[in-house]
Parts: sequence; structure tokens; C-alpha cells
Amino acid sequence: MEKTSAWAKILEHLKTRVDEREFDSWFRDSRQKSETAEAIFVQVRTPLFVDYIPEAYAAQIAEAARLAGAGNREIRFGADGDYRSAVNPQKLPAEPRRRAGGLNPAYTFEHFVTGESNRLAHAAALRVADQTSRQYNPLFVCGGTGLGKTHLMQAIGHRRLSRRPGEKVVYLTSENFVNEVVLGVRFNKMESLRQRFRAADILLLDDVQFVVGKEASENELFHTFNALYDEGNQIVFSSDVPPREIPGLTDRLKSRFEGGLIVDIQLPDFETKVAILRQKAEASQVVLEDDVAFFLAGKIKSSIRELEGYFNRVVAFASLKGEAISLDLGREALKDVFRAEEHATTPAEILKLVGAHYGLKPAELRARTKRGPIVFARQVTMYVLKEATGLSLPEIGRLFSDKHHTTALHAIRKIAALREEDPVLDRLLAGFLAQFR
Ligand code: ADP
Ligand code: MG
Repeated sequence: MEKTSAWAKILEHLKTRVDEREFDSWFRDSRQKSETAEAIFVQVRTPLFVDYIPEAYAAQIAEAARLAGAGNREIRFGADGDYRSAVNPQKLPAEPRRRAGGLNPAYTFEHFVTGESNRLAHAAALRVADQTSRQYNPLFVCGGTGLGKTHLMQAIGHRRLSRRPGEKVVYLTSENFVNEVVLGVRFNKMESLRQRFRAADILLLDDVQFVVGKEASENELFHTFNALYDEGNQIVFSSDVPPREIPGLTDRLKSRFEGGLIVDIQLPDFETKVAILRQKAEASQVVLEDDVAFFLAGKIKSSIRELEGYFNRVVAFASLKGEAISLDLGREALKDVFRAEEHATTPAEILKLVGAHYGLKPAELRARTKRGPIVFARQVTMYVLKEATGLSLPEIGRLFSDKHHTTALHAIRKIAALREEDPVLDRLLAGFLAQFR
């Protein structure tokens, strides 16, 4: 019975498409629980598998399903009777982090505080939100992580949608762009993909540095750009660095990126940090006295995301204690953070702890291998390193003898996305991080 189930047949094909050891770790324990004319229900080992399998293997599973004659049915995955993830061989697999309309409702201009650090970027963003402008086409926004690029790009999207209903706004991360191109090529869906991108009145492509080095995607981006530009449609890019500093960027894309206006976002100055804190306080309806705001603003070194983290921590702490937010309370809430600053955690400690959890020695974590479980443990380690130390992405990459910081970037993003969806992983990571603070 088990042997001839639809899933068993799919597995036969999948085996030849996935590395043997990965297959063993992710699929060996999977079993078909039931099936209908529309769907095949597959039980996997843990909730983490439920999220990870479609994320990592959607394309291979879809292909295997078609080869096994099950290409018209959805394959749903669950660990405890709740089949909450799926691969649909008839569709390009869904992007896991896409929200309705692709835009986060909080990322509007109303919620975006301006200061010297982002004034020009803000002004340019407003301008292109209101009208397509040859002069500002494309608009290229650059700046370090957590400084507001995504927020600003999505604010443009929101404003377009509200001011010019009927216009087509396309926002996507470059990672999604690359994924769509990969799948489009594979499933012969490039034509519909092109139509979708080229129908945009405004295309917002976030973190465009991610496209670099991915040939088919670069090529597609180049032609998409030309098509939109020639039609007089607005294009907005963001990146962590300006075009000339993106390593490996082809000349033809570089000249397109540089053909409009480049604006950058810097780390906010003290006053802007205070203003952002006030705005966050207002939005969460808490009272934040100046002394506390000044105290917090003075502590922020890297980004607005960090500032939000501190703020949220103080608010949570106050609500747990049932007290108003005061300077003393703020100090108490953050004392672990500052203690960690005094003697920073070493990467070696992190490799040891995370490795131990997965039964791996630090050397095994660092080894160059593509074995699924090790790769996953390594990605978790990179994430913890990023969260718990001041290491940069290239530094983290080097710890794992990777030449490219995009590997670390990809790993960290992926774990961050999984963490949002998987409470078990979330708790595990919180536990790791708590030990380093
Ligand atoms: P980036 O895309 O540059 O990494 P994000 O846009 O994700 O950064 O911003 C990180 C966080 O900081 C988000 O929650 C965002 O809402 C907030 N933020 C960034 N800039 C501002 C700003 N000027 N005013 C208010 N919040 C901001
Ligand atoms: Mg961003």
C-alpha cells in the first residue's frame, strides 16, 4: 500500500533530483496520510520540515510530481494534522514572505520620519510616488541595512495605489525576482512573467544587488528595465551600496542604474533617532519621556531596526512589570544588552553552542559541504552570529570560508523568514540569543 501511494511514486522521482543525503534527512521519514482528487497529504517529521521542505524543494517536488503523473494535484505538508504548507505543481511556487499586495501596511510615508540622514531620499521618493519623472528614472536608493530603504520603497507603492487607483504597482524583493525568473525558465512561464513585470506602471525592486551575478535574472532585468523605461513607467531600485560599488555589476546595468537619480540614506543623527522613537511611541500609544528617548537614542549604533528592537524591549518590559516607562526601567530592561557590549561574545562560543545543539563540532559546521542538515545548522549559526555579534556579512562569510557575503546574507534572510513562521524555531533561536546577551 505504502509503496504504491502517490507520494511514494513522487519520492522515486524526487530521489534522482535531490542530493542523496539531503533526501535522507528531509524526505526519508515522510509518509502519505491520505489523498483526494485535488491533493496529496504528506506527513513530515516536525513543523520545521513543514516550512522548510516547500521552501527549499518546491521546484524539485513539482517536477517529480509531474513525472509521477500527479502534476494536477497539490501536495500538502503537515506534521501534526495541520497541513499548512503546500507545493502546487501547476503554479510557480508561492513566495513565502509575500503579503497581500506585497506591501507592509505599516510602511507608509506617514510613518516615515525624516531628518538630515534621509531627507533627499524621502523627497525623491515622494516625487516619484506622485508622478513618473524622466529625471528621476530610475530612482536608486542606497544605504546600509535597517536604515529604511524597504520602508521608503513600500511607501512609494502605498502612495501610488491611493493617489492613482487603477495603476499597477509591482513591488518585489530581488530575491523573489530571481526566484521567479528561475522558475519561469524552468516551467516555460517566462512569457507570462514578462507580461506581469512589463505591465507595471511603477516597478519597485528592493535589494537589487542580489540580482548581480545571476545571469538569466540580470538579463531579464535589463530587458524589463528597457521596456518599462521606454514606455515612460517609473522604476525604483534599492541596494546596500551605490551602483559603482556593487561588485560584478555589468556595465549595461550599471549605466541603467546610474541613469536617473541616486540618493542615499545614512545613519540618522541623534535628533532623528529621538524623533523616530517618539513616532514609534505614539504609534504604540505609550508615553515616552524625553529622558528615556535620549537615553535610548544615545545607545543606538547601527540602525533604525536596532532602535526599534530596544524600544520594543522597553515597552514589553514596562508592560510585564505593569509600570510606566521611566529612565530606570529603560536601564533595567536593557542592562543585558549593555553588559553584552562590555564583553562581546566571540564567534567561537557561538559555533560551539549552536553546533552542540545539532550534534556538530565547530569544524564540521565550517566544513564545505552541501549536506542538508549541516547546511541548515550552518545557516542558523550565521543568523545567530549576525544577531549576537557586531560581525559584518563578509566577516561571517569568511568564518565559513565563503568568499561571498551573499551566502551569509541569503542564510540570514532565510532563517529570519523561517523564524517568523515557525514558533519552534523561533523559541530555539531566542534561547540561543539569550545566552549571548
Ligand atoms: P532596510 O530596508 O534599509 O534594511 P527597513 O526599511 O526594513 O530598512 O527599516 C528597518 C525598520 O526601521 C523598519 O521597521 C522601518 O519601519 C523602520 N524605519 C526605517 N527608517 C525609518 C524612518 N525614517 N522613520 C520611521 N521608521 C523607520
Ligand atoms: Mg530592506
